[in-house]
Amino acid sequence: MPSKVMLITGASRGIGAKTAQLAASQGWRVAVNYISNATAADEVVRSIKTQGGQAQAFQADVSDSDQVDRLFNDVDQAFGRLDVLVNNAGILETFPITEATPEKVTRSFAANIFSMYYCSREAVKRMSTLLGGSGGVIVNMSSIASRLGSMPQGNAYTSTKAAADGFNLALAHEVGPQGIRVCGIRPGIIATDIQAGRGGIEKAAEIAAVSTTLGRIGLPEEVAQTVIWLASDAASYIHGTLIDVGGGR
Ligand code: NAP
Repeated sequence: MPSKVMLITGASRGIGAKTAQLAASQGWRVAVNYISNATAADEVVRSIKTQGGQAQAFQADVSDSDQVDRLFNDVDQAFGRLDVLVNNAGILETFPITEATPEKVTRSFAANIFSMYYCSREAVKRMSTLLGGSGGVIVNMSSIASRLGSMPQGNAYTSTKAAADGFNLALAHEVGPQGIRVCGIRPGIIATDIQAGRGGIEKAAEIAAVSTTLGRIGLPEEVAQTVIWLASDAASYIHGTLIDVGGGR
């Protein structure tokens, strides 16, 4: 049997990239999605292949339903099966509520939530045992922001991640009986490019030093380890729940 296939949205950088590399090192064939940074996505694929793993990069804006259709068809063509979807792609855009234009609000919800709908829709069509599939796992990347809401001007980000928590639970109820496990992860402050949205990694590290009980910023590989565990059979009875990876925040 060919090795299992994991599609990770937003896998060209940050948490997604580390997850792709870790998954490939454990034998998964990995679909590396990205929106615009082809150089970064190609580098992730190159690093995986150098280690003897299997991966391919797939450009698609996962906030766009039609592009998600194309993405999943491309993954079908390339790998012929899908076992795990990691809904990881996301953006952090901060603004005061007085500047909440339809464009800004929609951009955050489209990238962080609509993407989960569109990708999960396509994944369930392929995995559902009711539809002839073999089951699978969906991992949703939320954030500790959903329960803290403390990021300055983080109104849109926090509410998209609170929506992700609700989506995670509802999807678990809906597709658990169809052989699909659904789990969410809530990272705390992790050292990735997304921190540019709140002043950069150094600033984020300062905040983490005083707001976590471990006293430090988290690393993307520490979140990646949790994704890989949730995707594995070792987590076979974990379903419809959220795991905080936040250093005690
Ligand atoms: P990151 O380093 O900024 O990377 C974002 C990734 O998402 C990139 O690969 C980017 O692709 C991709 N992306 C963004 N919008 C996309 C779209 N519409 N379609 C397809 N790909 C898209 O972010 P990160 O820190 O790794 O965050 C990953 C996830 O973890 C996000 O959902 C984020 O909210 C969540 N999270 C992060 C933290 C943290 O502190 N880092 C904390 C809590 C939750 P390109 O390279 O092509 O731009």
